[in-house]
Formats: sequence, structure tokens, C-alpha cells
Amino acid sequence: MVISLLRSIAPTCLLVTALTSCQAPDTPRPVWPATTPPTVASTPPVLVPGPGGPMPVFRHATTQEKIVALTFDADMTADQGPRAAAGARFDNPRLLDALRTLKVPATVFMTGRWADEYPRQARAIGRDPLFEVANHSYSHYAFTHGCYGLRALPADRMRSDVERAYAAIRKAGVAHPMPYFRFPGGCFDNRALQTVGSLGLTAVQWDVASGDVFATDADTVVRQVLDGVRPGSVVVMHCTRSAAPLTERAVRSVVPELRKRGYRFVKVSTLIRASAGRP
Ligand SMILES: [Zn+2]
Repeated sequence: MVISLLRSIAPTCLLVTALTSCQAPDTPRPVWPATTPPTVASTPPVLVPGPGGPMPVFRHATTQEKIVALTFDADMTADQGPRAAAGARFDNPRLLDALRTLKVPATVFMTGRWADEYPRQARAIGRDPLFEVANHSYSHYAFTHGCYGLRALPADRMRSDVERAYAAIRKAGVAHPMPYFRFPGGCFDNRALQTVGSLGLTAVQWDVASGDVFATDADTVVRQVLDGVRPGSVVVMHCTRSAAPLTERAVRSVVPELRKRGYRFVKVSTLIRASAGRP
């Protein structure tokens, strides 16, 4: 049910691996790469706009190959600490165990607040070659007004919120978070894309909404995913028990069925690479 507010944007983006060559001379230093520049071979593929342009948006790969990326948002809002202290669980270790058992590569979009709350799990995800960790903001506050009741971030705090998330994720022990960002609630507009564009990240949305948040029936989630998946799809799900308690059950049905239909599971970075027709 989460939708992006700006479906009309179709940025003319080039797929490149060297971000630094695409930064305008006077733009702030991107948060990616973080400290030491990775080698070209290890640099994740990203979409990059022209100098000074808005953050590019990736929703699915353009490919005929039957590949699909399951993505999991590890949501926790900055003001949910008291709920966690009272026993609410924003993690979902059994879901991660299921992905490992099923050998499903996945991309986890982690909030910095989640990494602060569950540093051992964050580190374990970051060190597992099956997974890649990307940025879902620090606070899980919205980057637009009117986004599913989420508190809105003022424009002058958007960049620092994204940077703070990377700091928290790295502090938890994830050495190499990916240069991908998912807007909380999936909500963004031109101003948000422009404001965080200089960070050198690619916004990753989706073309298949699983509907797992507050789902009361796992079969409905399964059907929604199976009906929606096309070659190159990005599926959004959640790694947050309190909000999406049926996701593990849905995954255990979705995975074998999609494999039966000839699909292979990949990470978002593989999809972005496949979009460019590169190996
Ligand atoms: Zn979220």
C-alpha cells in the first residue's frame, strides 16, 4: 500500500561506477565512498544524475532475465525507543534465518535507529555475504509532508539524517553499506531528491508492494507478490516483527513458488548491474 508520491519523475541517468567523476565541483562531498575509496572492481553500481542533479530513482531492472530482488525494510522510528524498552520487537531474526536456510540473497534497507537498537543483528547481516545493507534514513521520518502519518523532516535536516544513518550502521559493524537509499514510507518529491542528490546515492523504490505491513493473512501477501513479480522486479517487504508479523511465513511460500516459475533471487546491486547489461 505504500506508494511513491512522484511517479512522474524519469531522471535521465547514466549507469556508472565512478561517482566522483559525476559530482559538480562545488557540491558537498558525498557520503559514499565513506572513508577510503574502494577499487573500481568493488564499487557497487549506482545510477548517477548529471552534475548537481536530483537523486536518481531505481524501481526495477530492465531485463528479460527472470531475476528478482527481495528487499526488507528494517524499520524503527527515532521516537520508538520507549516502545522497544517496553517489549515491542522491531527486528525479525526468524525471517533472516529463513532467508539463510532458503539461500535467498536479499537487500536490507536499515534505519540508523534500528542499527542502534540491534547492533549485533546489524553486524551479522552486514557480514553475511548473502545480504547487503542499504540506508533507510536514521529516524524513519518522512521526506515529504503527508506520508502515512509519519512525522516530516525539515528540508535542512534531510542530508544529516541520511548521513547519521550511515554512521549508525557503520558503528554497529557494517563495514560496507551500499550507496542505496530508500525513502521512509516510499515518499519523496522533487525537493527531497534535489536536497539529498549531492550525497551520491541511488534511491531504490520498488515495482511490487507486498502489502506485508499490518497484513492479517499471509496468503494475501503471497498472492500479491506472485501476481506482481516480473523479470527484474524489486519487491518491498519488512524485517520488523511489530509491523509485519507474517512476512517470514509469506517468504517461505513465495520463494519456492517463484523458483518453480524459473526466477532467481538477487540483490539490488545485481539488478542495477543487470539493467546496464553488464555481468
Ligand atoms: Zn520503512
